[in-house]
Amino acid sequence: MNYCEKCHHLNHNEECSYCGNKKLRSITDGDVCFLIEKPMIWAEMLKEKLDNAEIPFECVGGMGAAMAIKAGPYLENYQFYVPYIHYSKAKIIIDEMFSQDQSIE
Ligand SMILES: [Zn+2]
Repeated sequence: MNYCEKCHHLNHNEECSYCGNKKLRSITDGDVCFLIEKPMIWAEMLKEKLDNAEIPFECVGGMGAAMAIKAGPYLENYQFYVPYIHYSKAKIIIDEMFSQDQSIE
């Protein structure tokens, strides 16, 4: 598995399929990986689940205040990042939460 230092996405390929970065390196357990992006209503639920599972995470608000005012607070997206060592566990939680309403890559 490769890791993109620019956008923190995991990649199966040599090149980042999200930002086009060609200089990927092998992932290590401590690397903080992009997990998922979700609107605020889901983000609160996900935070609770991750807390319960004792998975450390970072949650970053997506669009910033100006965009949120335009689009409405419930459309603001949050990005979740977890250390790679917890990634597969977090992914299972995500799959359980969202498998019913949409497909997860
Ligand atoms: Zn990237």
